[in-house]
Amino acid sequence: MSSPWNSGINDRRLKEQICEIGRRVYAKGFAAANDGNISIRVGENEVLCSPTMICKGFMSPDDICAVDLDGNQLAGKRKRTSEILLHLAVMKARPDVKAVVHCHPPHATAFGVAREPIPQCILPEVEVFLGEIPFAPYETPGGQKFADTVLPFLKPGTNAMILTNHGTVSFGPDLETAYWRTEIVDAYCRILILAKQVGNVSYLNERESRELLDLKKKLNIDDPRFHDVSCDLCGNSAFRDGYKEDMPEPCGFPAPPEYPGYLAGGTATAAPASPAANTPQFDALVKAITEQVLAALGK
Ligand SMILES: [Zn+2]
Repeated sequence: MSSPWNSGINDRRLKEQICEIGRRVYAKGFAAANDGNISIRVGENEVLCSPTMICKGFMSPDDICAVDLDGNQLAGKRKRTSEILLHLAVMKARPDVKAVVHCHPPHATAFGVAREPIPQCILPEVEVFLGEIPFAPYETPGGQKFADTVLPFLKPGTNAMILTNHGTVSFGPDLETAYWRTEIVDAYCRILILAKQVGNVSYLNERESRELLDLKKKLNIDDPRFHDVSCDLCGNSAFRDGYKEDMPEPCGFPAPPEYPGYLAGGTATAAPASPAANTPQFDALVKAITEQVLAALGK
């Protein structure tokens, strides 16, 4: 039980879990035909993954492949997915990551095609559970060059990314959590697109935005804004040093408000010891969000 890894490449329960998440990815319309791929790290140098050229909605445990961290196939009657190198790049850079989901959820991918940054400081759950969603630059899928596009953006606290003109990748300590982050990103992007059609998108004010980050800290969820004084509160800036010439700029949505960063500012509330963080409303929000996380994880 105390092993830092899951139980190896023959673990049927984990193969079944990959099939189950595959069914959800397909049922949600996150992967057309044979799109998308899923992986779980099961050892120091062993990873289970979905095979290439198979619909993710109809996999059985015997279809699942095993590879080492360089992508060499260790087991499985089918050929491993060519995009496994992307999963392995994330796992190698972030030892806390045990599972990765890559797919093409339409609403999130639409932001990647429009190259429109996903605005922050709008919905509480997104702010607390995801934070900024960086855009890895476009590269032809499959090879190591494609896999390496995510490397500048794998900061602690980053759990999901847009692959420009391609799709999404999300990851976490287990497969359910990794998948669930894709669901949050796509649901959020869908709401943003709908809100824009209804009228316009409203940002939370500085106090409200800061309180959500206080809450995030209280829940022990990491965020780049807790570490870097140059990060704006809502400005999609945590990753600006990762971009070369390809940083997405807001075009379809209003530019984010220029509040001082979480570490730099603090006129509204300070971190957990502040009175605002101890109000009944704040506690109720913590409780409500915690219950949602537990419900989502327990599904
Ligand atoms: Zn893809």
